[in-house]
Amino acid sequence: MRILAFTIDLDRDCNTAVRGETAAASRSCGVTTDPCHDASSQGMEVIADMLRSMAFPATIFAEGDSLRMLADPSVVKGLEIACHGMEHEDLTGESTGMLLENDQLEDIISRSWDTVVSVTGDVPRGFRAPYLNIDPRVLALVKERGFTYDSSMTEKVLDGVLMPKFLPQGMWEFPLARDTDSDGKVIDSYLWAMHEGRRPESDYMRMIDRFQEGVLVMATHSWHVMEGVREGPKGSKQTAEEADAIARMLGHARDSGFELLPLAAVEDLLNEDR
Ligand SMILES: [Zn+2]
Repeated sequence: MRILAFTIDLDRDCNTAVRGETAAASRSCGVTTDPCHDASSQGMEVIADMLRSMAFPATIFAEGDSLRMLADPSVVKGLEIACHGMEHEDLTGESTGMLLENDQLEDIISRSWDTVVSVTGDVPRGFRAPYLNIDPRVLALVKERGFTYDSSMTEKVLDGVLMPKFLPQGMWEFPLARDTDSDGKVIDSYLWAMHEGRRPESDYMRMIDRFQEGVLVMATHSWHVMEGVREGPKGSKQTAEEADAIARMLGHARDSGFELLPLAAVEDLLNEDR
């Protein structure tokens, strides 16, 4: 199998962990603020329009609050909706120093599930932890709530291969990919560095070309086409250019023989073979 699964984290604008607070704040141009959702909502519309026009599938990992704050919830119709916490909570406490009890974690995970069901009518199957902070305890609770896959880990691509794995908790893991660029430096399949102006599109095209076998999970944030963490709002021309860059990557992958699928469909394929 040579599959590309494009994923979008729909979460509060330029989110950042705050020491001593479980929920995330937003930050812009170096200033930490209360949570904002405007860029997240507008960016989701831009990316969803692009996906629809190109007939590209995608999986959205939605933070409950950001999903509820969408100006037009129908914008995500037809895309797979999975969960990304409720208020972008740090579930392991690694970034906030706040260690949560099991019942607190269960509450967050359950409310995030319920929000997807109530806003979209779809039953979520996948989970991605905010900040990608995951551990065996959180995974066990995610599985217990009924999720059948997770996509919070990052794994190295070895000789062009990165396969999903079946976790001891009894669910699939679809890790994000880590490779090396032409200078031998680490590159992750999260498009963060591109949106922050630190990596050209060509670096990700190269990563796609080097990927030969397995599932290449690529990721972005809906707000990141609208504003940058360092530079703030981008303007409509830059937003359109960054959405086009994503379209070129996905188009390049499809033309190179990748199958483009939402993660739930990849999970169905894997379950057929088990
Ligand atoms: Zn997030």
